[in-house]
Amino acid sequence: MNGISLLARAWNFSAQRHSNQKRKGKAQEPYVNHLAEVAELVAIATNGLDANLVAAAVLHDTVEDTNTLPAELASVFNVDIADLVGEVTDDKSLGKAERKQLQVEHAASKSHRAKIIKLADKTSNLRSLVKSPPIDWSIQRRREYLDWALEVARGLRGVNTWLEAQFDEAAEQLAVSCRK
Ligand code: NDP
Ligand code: ZN
Repeated sequence: MNGISLLARAWNFSAQRHSNQKRKGKAQEPYVNHLAEVAELVAIATNGLDANLVAAAVLHDTVEDTNTLPAELASVFNVDIADLVGEVTDDKSLGKAERKQLQVEHAASKSHRAKIIKLADKTSNLRSLVKSPPIDWSIQRRREYLDWALEVARGLRGVNTWLEAQFDEAAEQLAVSCRK
C-alpha cells in the first residue's frame, strides 16, 4: 500500500478506536486532536519521508488506550508499524508509578524512530498542560509532570534538533505558566 493510502487507513482506524474518548484538559478536546499534533510533529521532523513512522504516530495510543492488539496492527497495517507502536506502549499490567519510572529507564534504549514518536508525544502533552490543563491538576502536579517529562526526554535527546527545540519550547512555556 502506498504512503497516502496507508495514512488514510491509519487515521480512519485510529479515529474509530478513539471515537468515544476525550483529552483530560478543561477544553475536553477530541482525543484525535492529540494524535494529529503528534503526527504532524513526527512528519515535519522527518521531512515527510517516513510514512510508516507517521502512521505509527497516528496509532501510538491505540494499544495502550483502546481495545487494540499489536497483532491486529500487524495485520491491518504492517509489522514495522506494529513494532513501533509496541515500543511506545506502556505495560498496563504495572502500576502507574512503575510505568512512569520505566519510561525514564527505557527511553535511551528505544530505537531512533520510537524516540521521535515519544518526544513528539511528550511535546504535545506539555503544550496541552499550558493550553488546557485538566481542571483538577494543581500547579504542583503540572510541575511534577514537567519534571518527569524532562527526565524521560533526557534519554531521547540527539534524535532530531528541530523536534528537541519544539520540546524545549513547550517545557519552557509550561515552566513559565507554573510560575504565574
Ligand atoms: P498522568 O500523569 O499519567 O497523566 C498524564 C497523561 O495523560 C499524559 O501522559 C497523556 O498521555 C494523557 N493526557 C490526556 N489529556 C491530557 C492533557 N490535557 N494534558 C496532558 N496529558 C494528558 O496522570 P494519571 O491520572 O494517569 O496519574 C498517574 C500519576 O500521577 C501517578 O503516578 C501519580 O504519582 C501522579 N499523581 C500526582 C498527583 C499530584 O497531585 N501530584 C495526584 C495524583 C496522581 P497520552 O499521551 O498517553 O495520552
Ligand atoms: Zn499520546
